[in-house]
Amino acid sequence: MNQVQILASVQTFLQRQHGHFIHGQHIEVDDTRTRIELINPATEQPVSSITIGTKSDVEAAVNSAQDAFLHAWANTSPYERGQKLNKLADLVEQHAEELAQLETLTTGKLINLSRHLEVAQTVVFLRYFAGWATKIHGKTMQPSIPSANGEKYTAYTVRQPVGVVAGIVPWNFSLMIGCWKIGSALTTGCTIVLKPSEFTTLSLLRLAELAIEAGIPAGVINIVTGTGETGQYLIDSKKIKKVSFTGSVPTGIAIGKQAMHNDLTRVSLELGGKNAAAILADTQIDEILPTLLQASFVHQGQVCAAPERFFVHRSKYEEFIQKAAAALQQFKIGSPLDESSMFGPLSNKPHFEKVKHYLDLAHQNNQIICGGKVIAGTGYFVEPTLLTVRGIDDPLFIEETFGPVVDVIAFESDEELISMMNHSRFGLTASIWTNDLAKALRLIPQIEAGSVWVNMHTFLDPAVPFGGVKASGLGREFSDAFIEDYTELKSVMIRY
Ligand code: NAD
Repeated sequence: MNQVQILASVQTFLQRQHGHFIHGQHIEVDDTRTRIELINPATEQPVSSITIGTKSDVEAAVNSAQDAFLHAWANTSPYERGQKLNKLADLVEQHAEELAQLETLTTGKLINLSRHLEVAQTVVFLRYFAGWATKIHGKTMQPSIPSANGEKYTAYTVRQPVGVVAGIVPWNFSLMIGCWKIGSALTTGCTIVLKPSEFTTLSLLRLAELAIEAGIPAGVINIVTGTGETGQYLIDSKKIKKVSFTGSVPTGIAIGKQAMHNDLTRVSLELGGKNAAAILADTQIDEILPTLLQASFVHQGQVCAAPERFFVHRSKYEEFIQKAAAALQQFKIGSPLDESSMFGPLSNKPHFEKVKHYLDLAHQNNQIICGGKVIAGTGYFVEPTLLTVRGIDDPLFIEETFGPVVDVIAFESDEELISMMNHSRFGLTASIWTNDLAKALRLIPQIEAGSVWVNMHTFLDPAVPFGGVKASGLGREFSDAFIEDYTELKSVMIRY
């Protein structure tokens, strides 16, 4: 057991009366308003509390972002924007342990995952976006209309920031996903109002303070805390020019409709998945198993891109389930603040209840291969679980559990494999596990997913676009794909 000591700075931060972060300052909120307790999912004890943002809180944040957009940020040079984002990345690095502890205390994420994935990747992504600031530009083109009287034409495009962006963030990787949106907005010259998840708000509140220290002007990043209702006020604002949402499919669809009703506010949606991993006949199970299980069960399966359905060639099925079950039984389940734990709790009570419902369903129908139990005692702990399925209409085959619950299904032919993999309303990610690259290359175009990996899964790299097809989303983040979403393309034509 190697229990991490909570830093004094974290303890002080937890004890604060948290309000919103608007125009560079914490806004105190009077105590009579509804507050939400933030619960440590490993202990079920409150660690801090936040306030639920009202319509007027949201208006104040949006007005501040609008003011900062018009009078500060859009007029800064690209070089300066890149420098400030890099400075913010420096400060995240300097405060890495503090941010990692805040994440772990509110999400139950293993402390080493908070350190080496959440916070470390936040730095990587912020630096990546910082690099784009000086590289966003339009094109010149030669107009094609005929010239009757000898006049000439030239034309060019410019990319201009859309204005104030609303970023709405889920609870699984708040800091990192929040910084995908901050990085995209700030590098293109937009300002942002972020609404973190009501379960995991603290790391983004702390980040907003670091942004001021980094020299990012007041109002460029505002945080309003609260529930879905607070998010709705934000999307309804006429001053919001783009909504960047990450979360579940039902919320994404509701937000998409609301944004369209608000004079076609542009919207990008990064939603859920029921991702497939295809383990082909030539695969050596021992070789792939550690990487595959890590991809599915990291952060207790609460990763949008994680595979929840394993399709295993019939010839390898028995070997696979026997070895996978044995490996999962070795996972050391324990406190996320214990550096030796391999598997922590689910992040919050409603989600724990949802996963428990799926486990109950699997028990009722004798579908458990291994795991399946809720761990008795304190905290939202369940075992990593493998299931059989009762056909392609089984809810456990169709619905996203977003937990450590994975189906294992045998297939015989490539046709059967593709047809089962694509039998889903989702289309976020997929992977193929094989040494037969020619076969993988033939399968890739047939798979309905925004990302397909070969011999790996859930590798999000800022240089590679990420997003879903079908109900898994609309739009792409990262690479140069985000530029389309955060800028307006203006065409200019000149006669001379
Ligand atoms: P959720 O949809 O319940 O909530 C996400 C955010 O939206 C929260 O901040 C919530 O307060 C807010 N919200 C809820 N209702 C709203 C409304 N009507 N208007 C505005 N805002 C509203 O999702 P969650 O439970 O926080 O996250 C889990 C889901 O997120 C899973 O489905 C997972 O797959 C998905 N996810 C997707 C990605 C991706 O990049 N594709 C990444 C992480 C998580």
